[in-house]
Amino acid sequence: MTTTSVIELKRSALANNLDFIRNNIHHRSRISSVVKGNAYGHGIKEFVSMAESEGIDHFSVFSADEAERVFKCKKPETDIMIMGWLEKDQVEWAIENNVEFYVFDLNFVNEIISSSKKVGKAAKVHIELETGMNRTGFKSRSLNQLLGIMKDNRGCFEIKGICTHYAGAESIANYVRIQKQIRTYNRIYRNLVSRGIEAGIRHTACSAAAMNYPGTCMDMVRIGIMQYGLWPSPETFIQYAHKQADKTDPLTRVLRWKSKIMTIKEVKEGEFISYGTNYLAQEDKKTAIIPVGYSSGYSRILSNQGRVLINETFANVIGLVNMNMMIVDVSLIPSVKRGDEVVLIGKQGDLEITVNSFSAMSDTMNYELLVRLPQNIERKIVN
Ligand SMILES: *Cc1c(COP(=O)(O)O)cnc(C)c1O
Repeated sequence: MTTTSVIELKRSALANNLDFIRNNIHHRSRISSVVKGNAYGHGIKEFVSMAESEGIDHFSVFSADEAERVFKCKKPETDIMIMGWLEKDQVEWAIENNVEFYVFDLNFVNEIISSSKKVGKAAKVHIELETGMNRTGFKSRSLNQLLGIMKDNRGCFEIKGICTHYAGAESIANYVRIQKQIRTYNRIYRNLVSRGIEAGIRHTACSAAAMNYPGTCMDMVRIGIMQYGLWPSPETFIQYAHKQADKTDPLTRVLRWKSKIMTIKEVKEGEFISYGTNYLAQEDKKTAIIPVGYSSGYSRILSNQGRVLINETFANVIGLVNMNMMIVDVSLIPSVKRGDEVVLIGKQGDLEITVNSFSAMSDTMNYELLVRLPQNIERKIVN
């Protein structure tokens, strides 16, 4: 069923971004497409099928429920990796279905052993190292304990990889901290290899690390934000563009969010518009009502501040954003009518409402704005 707004996903944009990523990372690194947070709001189902047809064969998610959603729509040969949380029964599901997952804690290891024995199959695990973010992962000492346990339960584990995550590779302010993490990771990895442990593949880089610290690409990169056509930070783009003759942004946004005009209204000078006394018409106004509000992910913070595109012209949001509707000023746009396209994020003609401007207005970062787009909005793949 068509919803009051629709999120379009542009296949050619994804193809362009993946080409760019492939050409700019270490040529032997496999790409794992990160689709946590409902594929950064793009929609797991539609995005996964589109990414697979563009050559992606590895997806990373945060939790088992997300993995299950990818599992339902992926090709049989495509790999899934869970970077975070699984409940006990989900561990069995993962082992059964060859879904790989991070191990980052000794208490979790016992659950894996009992699940593996129950299923009668080895768990495919990635050992996460704590290298300086101080979030999840093993430090050297607990790592030795882990390896001991693994040795005693040999049939229960297949080590697929050794990984870590950097604490802010998108900002040069963290340079010293990231370099230290890279050294720590390499030291522990070399140590494992020298002890004859079959450690699988090395993967540490997110988008920002892959661009800013090419040495972190190793055997696989976990790319989220850039495949969707956005930079992890303005700084990462500037660092890239600095080295290029052509300064235009090589990435293309995959997502476009649009709705339609519900009705047009004339409002007389001196009247208030929307709830309360938030907006006073200081002259006669023509307004358009849009069936999108904060329940659709259009933040209430954008009351009197947001902008949309109608007939290739910017129109301001006036008054408070409601739960299901908002009102925009179309006084200066000729011949607007019910059913006209309204762009909330993305291009219309030559103009664009960028995710970045939208997130700056609503005081969020681009990642947060995208993942807040509700799952129940219809997603549509376009070429
Ligand atoms: C989210 C995430 C990524 C991807 O980050 P981007 O900045 O979107 O590329 C990579 N690794 C881990 C562990 C993550 O949680």
